[in-house]
Order: sequence, then structure tokens, then C-alpha cells
Amino acid sequence: MATIYLDNQATTPLAPEAFDAMLPWLKDNFGNPHSSHVMGRQAAAAVEVAREQVAALLPANGRVIFTGSATEAINLAFGAARNMSPQGRDQIAILDTEHAAVRDTALWYGKQGFEMTLLPVGPQGLVSMEDMEACLGPKTALVGAMLVNNEIGVIQPVEDIVRLAHRSGALMLCDAVQGFGRIDIPEQADMIALSGHKIYGPKGIGALWVRDGIDLPPLLHGGGQEQGVRSGTLSPALCAGLGAAVKICAERRAEDMAHISALAARARSLFGDWTVNGSLDQRYPGNLNIRREGLDVARLISDVRGVAFSAGSACASGSGRPSHVLAALRLEPAQIKSSIRLGFGRYNSIDDVEQAAHLINQAAEKQLS
Ligand code: PLP
Repeated sequence: MATIYLDNQATTPLAPEAFDAMLPWLKDNFGNPHSSHVMGRQAAAAVEVAREQVAALLPANGRVIFTGSATEAINLAFGAARNMSPQGRDQIAILDTEHAAVRDTALWYGKQGFEMTLLPVGPQGLVSMEDMEACLGPKTALVGAMLVNNEIGVIQPVEDIVRLAHRSGALMLCDAVQGFGRIDIPEQADMIALSGHKIYGPKGIGALWVRDGIDLPPLLHGGGQEQGVRSGTLSPALCAGLGAAVKICAERRAEDMAHISALAARARSLFGDWTVNGSLDQRYPGNLNIRREGLDVARLISDVRGVAFSAGSACASGSGRPSHVLAALRLEPAQIKSSIRLGFGRYNSIDDVEQAAHLINQAAEKQLS
């Protein structure tokens, strides 16, 4: 039996349209997009088409910089905070539930002399505007807040967060990795990070959108590609794959959302005995993080081999680090350890959800009886 893939927050399958868009640049059209001859110019044109496809879903007054991942885009964006420290702004404030790409980067900046503030979230996983307002001030350089949480699917009030960040004179970086192409992105954010492999595009490519007027110090030094901040030869194939994936997300947004909402509704009814972690209404429906008291999730995952899903207790697949997100919701260690994350995507069917629920519930019952 084929594995039922329900881990769409970890990564998504490649859309056939993205695969088709990549092929020519992997086979015959191998020119370096930075070469000035005809093959180079063709490759450069493909990169620019992709850039426009990505830009089409982002605010108009900025630029798209291709990177190797969203993690790299986020590291690049943090350079903006460095540029603000001569003005006496040396505080970086992020949500307590940020992905490691933001959290660990902020922690590193904390070790370099920045004041690092973790903004708490409530039991629903949402940040309170009062707490935020109290933490931000004339020393704040950068506020980092994600659009959709990768572990619990909670959607933060990013428009309000941007407003507060701007009121204190800080820049706002939105990690939109799990929401881009699916829900509205915050129009007023200063920088927005996204990743190819979460939106049915290829792995190995991400992008940072930067508002006009914001300068970034180079992250990678070398030949000066990507507007002088991210040297290195771009892969036209990866760019074309990302561009095609974004285009399909835009074209199918309503259809994808309706489909994923239907999968989520079915799953919620089939997992009625489980408790949902995080907000029930402020959430992206493609994520279901649920717990069942007393469950040994490591055993559950090995018992249910036919379904690919994640332990809610692991903050990144395979990292072995305990989930700081579930801890931030103030769940007890035993509750964290009994949580699983199911991620539904465009290519899942109702049948997938029903079969997976049957297998998971059956194994859970066996364990608990
Ligand atoms: N931010 C969020 C919310 C994510 O879910 C991920 C990937 O898991 C990242 C950032 C990092 O993305 P990438 O794998 O492209 O570095």
C-alpha cells in the first residue's frame, strides 16, 4: 500500500506544472543566467519571468531576491536590523512561537549584542497586542512574526503586528512560509520570506521580498548576483519551478482552500476524541495538531507505517528538539508528548484522510486499552 502523505507542513509534493517548468532548464537550456551570450540571456529571461510570477503575489513597492531557502531569506532580512543599530536601535522582538529559522537567528543576534525579546503567546497560540505594545519602543529595530505557524497552524494578526512595529519605528519581517499563496499576506510588512517546497514548488529555493528603500548588507559575498546581496549562480530550473508553483497557487487559491477545508472538516469529525492544540478558528485548515492523553507518539508513528505524519512534540522533523511552540501554549510535557501533527494538502483526498484516521485511531485505541 502506498504511503498516505499527511505531512504537508514539512514539505509538499512538487506540482506537475512546476516539474514541467523546470525540465527545459535542467536538460538542454543549461546556460548560466549571468552569461551575456544567447544561452545566458535565455536563462536570465526565465529567471526574470519567475521573479515576476513570485512578485505578482506580493506588494507592488518592493523587490524579490531569490535565495536557497526561506531560512536563508530570513538570515538575509535580519541584516536590516544590523543596519539600524547605529541609530540606537538594538532590540529584536519575535514571537515565542517562531520557526527555528527566525528564533535561532534572533538568538544568535542576541549573542552579538542585540537585546532579544520573545513575545509571549496565549493558550490559543496568539500574541496579545497589549503585551506587544509594552515590549516595543524606540530601541526596537526589527519585529519578526510569522503568518501561519508551522506546528499548530495558528494565523497571527499580522496586520496589527505590523502597525505596532511601525508605531515604534521598527521594521517588520513576516515569515510567510506556511501561508504564502494560500491566505492574504500583510501588505504593510517590510520584508516577507517564502519557500518553494511548502507551496508545491522545488526544494532548494526561497525568496525574500523587501520594501523599496530598505538596504540590506550582503549575506553572501562573491560575484554580486541577486542585487549584490546574495552572490552565487542562480538555478534557472529552481526559479522556474518556484515561479510556476506560485502561479498555480494563485490560480487555484479558492479551489485549494475549499478542498483543504473539506479535508480538515472530515478529519476534525474523525478525530473527535482528540483535543486540538491552538486556536480553533484563527487557524489555517491544512494543519491539525491534536493530542490524546497518555499516548506514546513515537510508538504510534512506528505502528502506523502507512501514514506519513509528524510528532507534535518535535519542533523540526528529525531534530529531536522538544516543541517550543506547544510549550509556549503552556501545555504540560505529557500533553506535548501525546500530540501529533497532520498536514493536509492539494493532492490529498477525503479517502486519504479517512484511511489515515482509521489507522491512527485504531493504533491509538490499541495503545490506550
Ligand atoms: N519558516 C517556517 C514557518 C517553516 O515552516 C519553515 C520550514 O519548515 C521555514 C521557515 C524554513 O524554510 P526552508 O526549509 O525553506 O528553509
